[in-house]
Amino acid sequence: MTLPSDLPPLRDVIARHGLSAEKSLGQNFLLDGQLLDRIARVPGSLEGQRVYEVGPGPGGLTRALLRAGARVTAVERDRRCLPALAELASAAQGQLDVIAGDAMAIDEAATLGRGAHIVANLPYNVGTALLVRWLNAGDWPPWWASLTLMFQKEVAERIVAQPGGSAFGRLAVLAQWRSRARIAFPVNRAAFVPPPKVTSAVVHIEPGEAPPDVRGRTLERLTEAAFGQRRKMLRQSLKGLPGALDALTELGLDPARRAETLSVADFVAIARLLDRATAA
Ligand code: SAM
Repeated sequence: MTLPSDLPPLRDVIARHGLSAEKSLGQNFLLDGQLLDRIARVPGSLEGQRVYEVGPGPGGLTRALLRAGARVTAVERDRRCLPALAELASAAQGQLDVIAGDAMAIDEAATLGRGAHIVANLPYNVGTALLVRWLNAGDWPPWWASLTLMFQKEVAERIVAQPGGSAFGRLAVLAQWRSRARIAFPVNRAAFVPPPKVTSAVVHIEPGEAPPDVRGRTLERLTEAAFGQRRKMLRQSLKGLPGALDALTELGLDPARRAETLSVADFVAIARLLDRATAA
């Protein structure tokens, strides 16, 4: 849709509504229209697409999503932002719905239906919890069509990490066992108001095919155990998980290895054997 060209600059919106950034709400605002348009292009064309945005704040990314032709549903916890978002909703002529509340408490599939793209400059304090929840969606393919999310660069690197390094862990396995994850581009800390301490990066995740006969919950328990004590050998870290050591033997995986040396496919194979053992 075409947003009216006479929308006030975001800096004015922030000043007029007294939206000084609250650290406790993870508020670091993006005001650069070109950068925001670049983020909105990451999922591909959004023309006519449903987009779910968590934490619109003063609405910079929301504007870019609307400019890209999306129909946006945005959930914002900070009530101070609501009048500014109501102004934007009125300019957007029915293309923007704002929900006042906590994103952790939303029943997303019921609110949005299937096929929504999630695009968000996430509040750092709930970012990883939301990502894990989206990756662990019960049905697969999930209710969401893609995730385009801003994270601290260190978290982004953990999401796309490959085996063998210290960044490889639970987040990488959860993000890669049935999804494709990549870093779209880094974002300099100076792009934010106020600047956070570290560089950020936009991550893009698309659902892939789920390997058969593996339950997400089993993989979660397995990665929790394996990476909960990541310096230990698997024979030690997986000791408390019934059937796990037998699974290693059956798969020919050396129990003296550490979790970070296994591949995502190895974790999937172990989880499949654990599920088979429970079903038997
Ligand atoms: N999207 C805006 C931008 O890019 O400039 C703001 C991003 S700021 C990093 C994160 C936003 O998430 C803030 O507006 C904050 O109030 C909001 N927020 C924090 N916790 C939230 C929660 N649990 N549910 C919904 N919004 C939340």
